[in-house]
Amino acid sequence: MSKVLLKNIGTLISGDISNPISKGNAILIEDGKIKQVGQDGDFDATGVETTLDCAGTTVTPGLFDSHCHVVLGDYTPRQKQTGFLESEVHGGVTTFISAGEVHLPGRPKDPVGTKALAILAAKSFANFRPGGGKVIGGAVILEKGLVKADFEELAREGVRTVGEIGLGTIKNPEDAAPMVKWAREFGMTIMMHAGGTSIPGSSTVTAEMVIQTNPDIVSHINGGPTAVAMDEVQRLVTETEMALEIVHCGNPKVAVEAANLCVKQNALRRIIIGNDAPSGTGVVPLGVLRVICHLASLTAIKPEEAVCMATGNTARVHKLPQGVIAEGKDADLVIMDSPMGSVGADALSAIEAGDVPGVAMVLVDGEIVVAKSRNTPPPVRKPEIQ
Ligand SMILES: [Zn+2]
Repeated sequence: MSKVLLKNIGTLISGDISNPISKGNAILIEDGKIKQVGQDGDFDATGVETTLDCAGTTVTPGLFDSHCHVVLGDYTPRQKQTGFLESEVHGGVTTFISAGEVHLPGRPKDPVGTKALAILAAKSFANFRPGGGKVIGGAVILEKGLVKADFEELAREGVRTVGEIGLGTIKNPEDAAPMVKWAREFGMTIMMHAGGTSIPGSSTVTAEMVIQTNPDIVSHINGGPTAVAMDEVQRLVTETEMALEIVHCGNPKVAVEAANLCVKQNALRRIIIGNDAPSGTGVVPLGVLRVICHLASLTAIKPEEAVCMATGNTARVHKLPQGVIAEGKDADLVIMDSPMGSVGADALSAIEAGDVPGVAMVLVDGEIVVAKSRNTPPPVRKPEIQ
C-alpha cells in the first residue's frame, strides 16, 4: 500500500465545472487513487511514504487532450516525429483520447482491416503509457460495410470510441446514423468532424449533417482547421445537447465566438478541449494549455472553468475514472504556478492574463512522471519532496 500526501496547496481546482475550486489544501493518495481531499492535519498520515509540500502552488486534475491523432507507439507518421505524446505530458496532459488512427500509412478501409486497426490500437495503448500518460487508443473510423456485429466485437475487444465521422468512407448522415445507433448500444462514445475538409479523402461536414447523425461530440466546433460559419455554430449550441469541442489546431476567432455563445447559453458543461494534432498544423505539446489560456484571457470564461473543460468535462463525456479531484478517482494531477516573469501572481491569474502556466510536476496514478517540465516556462514556486 503506497501513500502520498500533497499539502500546502494554494489553489485546488476540482475539475467539476459546477464547483471548480475546492476548499481543501491537501490531498491524500493511496494506491494510485485519491483517498481524501481536505485540510492538512485532518488526515490520518500514518504510513505516508512521500509528502509533497506544494508551497502554495495550484493543483489541478491531469489535463485531457480530447482530440489526438495517435497511430501506434509514440510516433506520428503525419509529422515523422517520435516522442510527441511524452512531450505533451510535459504540458500537463495525462489522458489522450484518440480521434481515429487516420494517419496510418496505407490505412485499410475494408471492414476487417478497419476493425483490426482499432482493436490493435486500443489494446496496444492499454499496455503502453508514453511518458506516463494514458492513451485511449483505437477509435474506429466508420467505413462502408461495417455491420452491427462488428460494433459488438469492437466494444467487446476494448474499443470505446468512434473516431471522427467524416474521415472515412461513411460520409452521409443516412449511412452514419445506423452505425451511430449500434455503437451507442454497445457503450461507445461517438465523435463527428464538423467544418471544412481537413485532409484529402475526408469531407466537409455541415451543422445539419451533424444534427442528423447525432454523435455525442461535435469535434472541433471551431474547425479542424476550417470552421463552420457562426450561424451553424449557433445551431449546434442551441439545438443540440452534444459536447462541443474547441481545439488548438482550429480557427481561433470562432473559438472565442463559440465560447462566448456557450457562456450566454449556460452551456459551459458541454465544452471540452483538445489539440487536433498531430495534423497539418504540426505537433503541439502545449496546445491544451494554450486553449485554456486563449479561452480564459479572451472570453468571459473564468480560468478555473477553462481548466474544468480540459479535465472533468472530458472525463464525463468519455465515462473515465479520472479528471476530477475527488475520493475514489485516479490520482492524475498537475502542480502548476505562475511562470517566471508573468504579471499573474498564481497559475489562475497568469492563465487569465493569457500566459501559459509553468508546470512544476505531473503525477499519474499517484506516481511522479514529470518532476520538471521541459516544455513550459519554469514556475515561480515548486513543490518540495519530503
Ligand atoms: Zn476533424
